[in-house]
Amino acid sequence: MNCNDMMQEQRISNAVKLIFEKSVEGRRAVRMDLPDVPNAMNIKKEFLRDKAAELPQLSELDVVRHFTELSRRNFGVDTNFYPLGSCTMKYNPKVAERIASYPGFAHLHPLLPQLGRGGMLTQGALQVIYETDLMLREITGMAGFTTQPMAGAHGELTGMMIMAAYHRDKKNNKKTVLIPDSAHGTNPSSAAIAGFEIVSVPSDENGVMDIELVKRLLNDDVAGLMLTCPNTLGLFNPKIKEICNLIHSVDGLAYYDGANLNAIMGKARPGDFGFDIVHVNLHKSFATPHGGGGPGAGPVGVKEKLLDFLPISLVVKRNDGTYALEYDKPKSIGYIAPFYGNFGIILRAYVYVLMLGKDGLKRVAENAVLNANYIKEKLKDYYELPFDKVCKHECVFSASKQTEKNGVHAIDIAKALIDRGFHPPTVYFPAIVKEAMMIEPTETESKETIDTFIQAMLEIAEQSEIEPEKLKSAPLTTPVCRPDETAAVKNLDIASL
Ligand SMILES: *Cc1c(COP(=O)(O)O)cnc(C)c1O
Repeated sequence: MNCNDMMQEQRISNAVKLIFEKSVEGRRAVRMDLPDVPNAMNIKKEFLRDKAAELPQLSELDVVRHFTELSRRNFGVDTNFYPLGSCTMKYNPKVAERIASYPGFAHLHPLLPQLGRGGMLTQGALQVIYETDLMLREITGMAGFTTQPMAGAHGELTGMMIMAAYHRDKKNNKKTVLIPDSAHGTNPSSAAIAGFEIVSVPSDENGVMDIELVKRLLNDDVAGLMLTCPNTLGLFNPKIKEICNLIHSVDGLAYYDGANLNAIMGKARPGDFGFDIVHVNLHKSFATPHGGGGPGAGPVGVKEKLLDFLPISLVVKRNDGTYALEYDKPKSIGYIAPFYGNFGIILRAYVYVLMLGKDGLKRVAENAVLNANYIKEKLKDYYELPFDKVCKHECVFSASKQTEKNGVHAIDIAKALIDRGFHPPTVYFPAIVKEAMMIEPTETESKETIDTFIQAMLEIAEQSEIEPEKLKSAPLTTPVCRPDETAAVKNLDIASL
């Protein structure tokens, strides 16, 4: 049976009908008597619909079963291991969810007054934002943060706009930004949207930015550098401080993509390496939920000399101990998001940091690094490891051995993991590794879970030798086999699934 036949069979056995298809004329969840008081609403006829809305008609039980069935098809950190490299899919402690759902936080309206009458309702929320700023300063070595950006990429854009504003203010005529070839795609996009030209810097034989190349590329056009450290190969650049110094020597600024902060937090600070601007992915490093497109939060921190350019508004603490929003910042790049950013996400991160404390955050980094190295050591005899050295929070393998020998690609291994109950690692990224498989276990997984994953990877390596064709049919246990990914984006047709 080939993949498509299997797919057909599965479609039939697993199909969930649309709720509209389950509708039966006249069926109701609740029946209510007609009101015995006159209709008080006086809506003009032109605003009333001519015929009843076409809503599905179902019993309450039908509705509950329909949505429960759909919810069971979700894959998440709460159900299974999710080693999606670079994304840091770690467990989200439920205590943070609980606190974020307190009505005093969850029901706040952003237009409530900050001070005076009504201010009592918002002071606590402002305090959370203010103290999150202080904690992030301490963790990263920056002088001040904005919590407005809604994601890492949004933080990058904010940071690069700050970089542009700094050079404009100093009348520096600079246009290029150095970005390593291992960078996340959002780095060059953000820099380009902020008006810069990108100079891609190839990695050296150790997988990190080549300092000799940086020296050669350095000139007065260079506005700055954008880099994550450890990088997307999970490798720390031991020359990072010298690289930042080089950038500063031409009055450039160094931007730190903080998506990999969980590898070093509590241990080392990007500010101390020499970085001037940092974004932090609260939804990665600080265990707030993410996936499915959001919500996220990407606060941006800057060194002293860039504080004036931060977006408005900023939360400040007054002498009388109250908190207020400050708008009076003439050099600010302006609003980057409405109100305060994704407050609920900031609050969850605040709870997480307070809960773990200084020593807990250190342990996060230690265990994230330990777990990644454990996987690396256990798998490196079976999968090609392009950079065989101690890694930080993630390790990058290549499926090239399997490809060359049996025509099995990274995508086949990824799909085979789904059948074994695991979310696949990130594949085909970073682009500088052929057939890349980027595994990030995070610190929250137990040794038992990690061992089961390793076992699955070993089984797949074995299967690629004896029945490679079967791997190409995976996954066989999901409602959809292997969709045509291009068509799924360009001609999305949910109803026919
Ligand atoms: C996730 C990630 C980003 C982008 O962050 P989002 O929050 O997804 O917008 C940038 N750089 C790296 C290295 C990342 O892993």
